Amino acid sequence: MAFRIFNTMSRTKEELIPLDGEHVRMYTCGPTVYNYAHIGNFRAYMFEDLLRRYIKFCGFKVTQVQNLTDVDDKTIRSSIQQGLPLKEYTKTYIDAFFEDLAKLNIEPAEHYPAATDYIDEMIQLIGTLFDKGYAYKSDDGSVYFSIDKFSEYGKLAHLDREGMQAGARVAQDEYDKENAADFALWKAYVPEDGDVVWDSPWGRGRPGWHIECSAMSMKLLGESFDIHTGGVDNIFPHHEDEIAQSEAATGKPYSRYWMHCGYLVVDGRKMSKSLGNFYTLREILDMGYTGREVRYELLSSHYRQSLNFAFKSLDANRAALKRLDEFYASLVEAAENNDVAGELPAWASETRKRFADAMDDDMNISGAMAAVFDTVHAGNKAMSDSPVSSREARAVLDLWSELDRVLGILIPQEEAIPSRVFDLLEDRKKARAEKNWAESDRIRDALAECGWTVKDTPVGPKLRKL
Ligand code: AMP
Ligand code: ZN
Repeated sequence: MAFRIFNTMSRTKEELIPLDGEHVRMYTCGPTVYNYAHIGNFRAYMFEDLLRRYIKFCGFKVTQVQNLTDVDDKTIRSSIQQGLPLKEYTKTYIDAFFEDLAKLNIEPAEHYPAATDYIDEMIQLIGTLFDKGYAYKSDDGSVYFSIDKFSEYGKLAHLDREGMQAGARVAQDEYDKENAADFALWKAYVPEDGDVVWDSPWGRGRPGWHIECSAMSMKLLGESFDIHTGGVDNIFPHHEDEIAQSEAATGKPYSRYWMHCGYLVVDGRKMSKSLGNFYTLREILDMGYTGREVRYELLSSHYRQSLNFAFKSLDANRAALKRLDEFYASLVEAAENNDVAGELPAWASETRKRFADAMDDDMNISGAMAAVFDTVHAGNKAMSDSPVSSREARAVLDLWSELDRVLGILIPQEEAIPSRVFDLLEDRKKARAEKNWAESDRIRDALAECGWTVKDTPVGPKLRKL
């Protein structure tokens, strides 16, 4: 079966077919680094992690770009309040963000561009919009995008174009659908911006938030790429505006699939900084919960449903993870260090197919987790009746490893093989198939740097810890 994903643009499930047939290029709107990310933000990053991992499971390569919004209304306001230069202020939260990702076992993206490093690209893009007649300068010196000129404006959020007020302008980065209006590409300098200012052909100022993502995504992934993701709150205006700017400038389709996750809610309301109903990851870890328990919580509801956050689910996850660990430990014991896998026992023979069928259906995580827990249940029962052979146990462990490359919770993190090591192993297989021995040797060294070695056995290469 093929991997089908719900495309916000068409409001239907579509098969994921990368532009070049084998390599999925995806852009993920990243954190605005003016504070610690809360676990609502991490719900979005977790959905994107599951997505990239499952795309790889399907046999595609992935290049994911996740930006760091280190200049916008909020970062400037907060850095000035703290009396710190913008870069110094945002660095604290950028460092914290990477620490949190590691705690949650979220795989690193391939690129993390910071907006302040791409100002030239943004200026260039705005210049193109000027040349093509989509941008204009207002009286205060700011540059706006004219939504009237882009006839497809509103296609992602399904806006009613008739109801739009011609000529209205909005300067803020965030606004609602009812106020769809010409939006700022370049904001003229105002004293409240302190020393956050760049020169441009339209005078001193700074970029608007939306142009940042268009410039960084197209620079790193090309003018047309495969998937663009975020939370549902990004659909309008952020993603609508990105589409308008990018497609107006290039005349080409921007992202082919748009995917958005539902909210993490507390008592029915979106978790957000502005409502004050949020927990940061570090607060939850300080209470004694583990990153793996939080990962389980963020992962185990379907990404498009809203997820109600409650501590009692975290407690329940602890029990579920204990069951997984006990199952894993009994398999390790039964495998007796045997490297050579035999056939899967009957109770695990359908697991991979059930898992993949569920995930293929727009990442139906409940179905995928049911395949896992049914296997644990049946396996525990079978192993209590009669022991499995070491070769069977090894086969189940190999399967578990494969599924855990998608889920990242089945195996205790210390014992799991890191995804980078798996990726290197895949690259090595390819290099050897092409008889590229120099590349194969280089990969062997890279594996050793990660603390792993590979042994070629009659049933294929096997990874071992050094
Ligand atoms: P921000 O830093 O506000 O730009 O948000 C970063 C990412 O987190 C975006 O993709 C948002 O859509 C997402 N996000 C923010 N709050 C929530 C929430 N309560 N539930 C799910 N995603 C969220
Ligand atoms: Zn963005």
